[in-house]
Amino acid sequence: MNAFTYTRAEDVATAVGAIAGDGVARFIAGGTNLVDLMKANIERPSRLIDITRLPLRAIEPTSDGGLRIGALVTNTDLAYHPEIERRYPLLSRAILAGASAQLRNMASVGGNLMQRTRCAYFYDNATPCNKRTPGVGCSAIGGFTRYHAILGTSEHCIAVHPSDMCVAMAALDAIVRVSGPGGDRAIAFEDFHRLPGDTPHIETNKWPDEIITAVDLPVRGFAEHYAYVKVRDRASYAFALVSVAAALRMSGGRIEEGRLALGGVAHKPWRDRAAESALADQPASRQTFEGIADLMLRGARDFGFNAFKLPLAKRAIVRGLAQAAAVNGAARP
Ligand code: SF4
Repeated sequence: MNAFTYTRAEDVATAVGAIAGDGVARFIAGGTNLVDLMKANIERPSRLIDITRLPLRAIEPTSDGGLRIGALVTNTDLAYHPEIERRYPLLSRAILAGASAQLRNMASVGGNLMQRTRCAYFYDNATPCNKRTPGVGCSAIGGFTRYHAILGTSEHCIAVHPSDMCVAMAALDAIVRVSGPGGDRAIAFEDFHRLPGDTPHIETNKWPDEIITAVDLPVRGFAEHYAYVKVRDRASYAFALVSVAAALRMSGGRIEEGRLALGGVAHKPWRDRAAESALADQPASRQTFEGIADLMLRGARDFGFNAFKLPLAKRAIVRGLAQAAAVNGAARP
């Protein structure tokens, strides 16, 4: 591990001032990803700015009836917060599907948004990786791709975003609040993470000198009809091969509105507005769900070892929609 200095910020302005102009400084909160990256010599910050004392741990109502989640709220506190369980159970389920209890106790909401891919080549300094060193090539393409993307890929990177929490937040149309030298701004969750394109090393639309202060959840939480389906190699403490956050508004047996977000298949939580629009005013039937899955996956392509993800994703979408259509995900197709 490289040598680095350590400072602690007591307020947001001080934290932003400390990181501005220092391109190799990093904020640290729970450290559940950053410390691993530093040990592996992937991240080599010259300075760590400890933000754990910033006043960003509240979960409180917004003026429009939604909920504001401070960026330092831990994954555990968020998943078990009474208002999250009552109004946004999809988010609670997704968080509890991720990591381990120990990690969830340490990991923060802001850190979850900023975590890096778990592509094995990214963590292996002996192999070329465009995300680590732009322009050197991608070792995953033509390599072992079981855990890689099938949607939104580029010739430069086929990595996936590893978060479960973010998949639910994407489906819920959350808003990310950031603060920087230019002031405060809001970023729609869908626009926060980027596809790899030809700059896979730039993963979000947050500027490096901005800090995440909160995530806002809108009023509608889809608490009646939701499901989070996560398919993985073992029952716990594993990243998703494919995950599905499904949220529906139903009237009788018909769907009035639907939201879908996929994890484990792209460089960001994957949404498809055309597929979601096609859910409206449809019967909650297997035929509907299969049609939506085909629409959602129409641009998918495999990279050899991950070919199984195409049929797996279709089945997971169908299951997620069927569970969501049943009250509180109680039934399966
Ligand atoms: Fe690097 Fe992305 Fe290729 Fe993985 S998929 S080796 S992260 S460029």
